[in-house]
Amino acid sequence: MLLYLTCTILITEWRTKYRREMNNQDNNAKSRAVDSLLNFETVKYFNAEDYEVQCFEEAILKYQQCEWKSSASLALLNQTQNVIIGSGLLAGSLLCAYLVSEGRFQVGDYVLFGTYIIQLYTPLNWFGTYYRLIQSAFVDMENMLVLLTEQKEVQDAEHADDLHLSAGQVEFDRVTFSYVSGIEVLRDVTFTVEAGKTVALVGPSGSGKSTILRLLFRFYDPQSGCIRIDGQDVSTVRQTSLRSYIGVVPQDTVLFNDTIGNNIRYSRVTASSCEMERAARAADIHNRILELPQGYDTEVGERGLKLSGGEKQRVAIARTILKAPRIILLDEATSSLDTQTESNIQASLAEVCSNRTTVVVAHRLSTVIAADQILVLHSGRIAERGRHEELLVRGGLYAAMWRKQQKSLDTKTNTKTLTQDDT
Ligand code: ATP
Repeated sequence: MLLYLTCTILITEWRTKYRREMNNQDNNAKSRAVDSLLNFETVKYFNAEDYEVQCFEEAILKYQQCEWKSSASLALLNQTQNVIIGSGLLAGSLLCAYLVSEGRFQVGDYVLFGTYIIQLYTPLNWFGTYYRLIQSAFVDMENMLVLLTEQKEVQDAEHADDLHLSAGQVEFDRVTFSYVSGIEVLRDVTFTVEAGKTVALVGPSGSGKSTILRLLFRFYDPQSGCIRIDGQDVSTVRQTSLRSYIGVVPQDTVLFNDTIGNNIRYSRVTASSCEMERAARAADIHNRILELPQGYDTEVGERGLKLSGGEKQRVAIARTILKAPRIILLDEATSSLDTQTESNIQASLAEVCSNRTTVVVAHRLSTVIAADQILVLHSGRIAERGRHEELLVRGGLYAAMWRKQQKSLDTKTNTKTLTQDDT
């Protein structure tokens, strides 16, 4: 019994590493498959089907090697247990037979020994099986247990209160933030968006514009400084209450694998069909949806792959319009749209944003001329601030960006006119 228990425990502990490795390789193979299937367009753009198949095959082969080791070690465990049980039974039986032949035991004692040993081995066998099963279940759960110990990056403070929104003034006070320690993405950023006003964030790519929106939405907490809404520090209020007042149109819209109607309704699932259609009309997508055979019941596919970039963006705008939040964050909300659709939507966006505090991120400066204040970000700092005309007069970074964009616009127009004249 002792030998059986010792061997079972030692071998089960030893083979745990194979099971763990097998799980890791299984995760690798599956994530590799999901990644290449999700990015199927990129795979085709670069003719990389063979490469992906090869990578997947390598991952599967590694998994199979680990699985083989795990199965082989299980077979070793079972065989060792069988050998111990068999040897015990053989030794005991031979001893009994010897004692019977010596006349010290009767045949009935031999049978009694056999019955006893079977009664002993059955629970012993179960012990071995359950010990192994529990051990492998714990190994299988390891990933989940690690996930449960993961600390939330942003946590509600103890006894955090709901945000009490009155006017909707947003204030950044000397905010400094870095995603990775040592690399500051925002430095000493201070600005105020008065209630109901619009502030535009412009600047080169990577200067930290979207980061400002993420901080306001509290995806992260700043390392220093404070973000306030109506005088309340956002880090002291409940995240759910904060987010219920804010609507975001993100840079990259991702949709659920559901109908267009349900995707629009996602911002307010209780909205009626009438309200949903009104929002779609305001986002200039209602007519386009009606052109589809199944209208609002059209499935958009995984991550919305059956819609064009501009259509997805309009769905995102419709969602935000339906939510009717008090504070609106637009991160390049119309960047994927053609000029005509953009101007159609700009009008409804202007209507939605009127009397609502709005922060707009834009690369096309022509879309933010009317903003109450324009902040020019450069390397995480606010390099310039003011209205469009003031910034042009100042002749700094903004004026240079404006001139460049106007110039490229003029060049495009001239090229078009020339081509038309030629034809
Ligand atoms: P764009 O106009 O191209 O959208 P942006 O001004 O909005 O740029 P941000 O998205 O705010 O730029 O990014 C600012 C910097 O922070 C970039 O250098 C970017 O690489 C880095 N960054 C953004 N998100 C993360 C992240 N999750 N982890 C680490 N670094 C990040």
